[in-house]
Amino acid sequence: MGIPEVTRAVFLKQRTAQSGPELDDFEIRELALPALSSGELLIRNAYMSVDPSMRGRLEATEKHYTTNFIVDQPLDGSAIGQVIDSADSSIPIGAHVRHRMGWRDHAIIPASTATVVDIDIAPLNTWLGILGQTGFTAWAGLLRTGEFKTGEAVFVSAAAGAVGTAVGQFARLLGASRVVGSAGGEAKRAILVDEFGFDDAFDYRAGPAGEQLKRVAPDGIDVYFDNVGGDQLIAALDALRVNGRVALCGMISNFEATNPRNDISKLISVILKRLTIRGIIVRDHEDMRPEFERQVAAWLREGKVISKDTIYEGLEHAVEALFGVMAGANVGKMLVRLDPAA
Ligand code: NAP
Repeated sequence: MGIPEVTRAVFLKQRTAQSGPELDDFEIRELALPALSSGELLIRNAYMSVDPSMRGRLEATEKHYTTNFIVDQPLDGSAIGQVIDSADSSIPIGAHVRHRMGWRDHAIIPASTATVVDIDIAPLNTWLGILGQTGFTAWAGLLRTGEFKTGEAVFVSAAAGAVGTAVGQFARLLGASRVVGSAGGEAKRAILVDEFGFDDAFDYRAGPAGEQLKRVAPDGIDVYFDNVGGDQLIAALDALRVNGRVALCGMISNFEATNPRNDISKLISVILKRLTIRGIIVRDHEDMRPEFERQVAAWLREGKVISKDTIYEGLEHAVEALFGVMAGANVGKMLVRLDPAA
């Protein structure tokens, strides 16, 4: 295989208007691949991750926890692929690495920013999903931010997504007394119970979140893993028992909200029930990663957790995948396959 001198990347053509992103805001352009400098790697990307935080990065505001995308520059984000040229003695040609230069078929990266992954432990795609950042977010958010303990009852929203499916499965395996979730639509609700082992689940679009949560968790909950904010957070404050905890992980229901409601008065529950509400940013918890990878790789090997992806094919469908993850088109991790041979 020859070394390519040019690749394709998705560029941000113009910043997203207030009405939300359009397909026309993006463009696939050619990107030169110059000869490697010392310490660099050339990667053939196999998969890229599609994350809700990318929606926030399209705007000039700070609805995310990283940097904004730049107009006339390629987008970026987590990806995984194989080294096809190396100017760094520590990572040879043929190694599989996870890195931050998604949204392109090939990437040149400093070897110091690459994480080598072992595909003998688990398939390549799982290193972006249940064994990657989203699985790790679930792990750190449940155990450290949510201070989950064996025997407690857990509720997670966006439960059929990448983080949510991991939270539900980990909570069950770590000895939760009850695991309930919410997702959009009856099909996803059923998948949570039938495939991911939730005790019960509700379709948040089918009726008021408060009533539905009471039905699936009649004795209340100890930990709410919040991926969405809004009405479901209010419902959870009501359902939490004394000394309950909320791990605030995402606010996806607020992204397109044009008239945010003032629900701050509901915070009286935090006083009355001595609740703890704490935000998580996953990168603060790297010390937990070795134990997370060891345990979750073992559960995968033993068939105790399942890893599901929704995969769009090819860079030309990457923007659709981003729109899809915001609209709930995914079950499990949303990925784009960039190398048809992967
Ligand atoms: P995901 O859950 O796989 O995908 C997003 C899901 O959100 C969609 O599938 C959709 O499912 C749901 N959704 C969309 N609009 C919604 C709305 N208005 N109300 C309720 N649900 C809605 O995404 P993910 O990567 O696992 O991320 C989940 C959350 O965690 C996101 O908020 C993300 O920003 C956050 N996150 C935070 C960190 C951190 O460090 N803080 C790290 C990773 C992820 P339905 O069909 O069920 O609506």
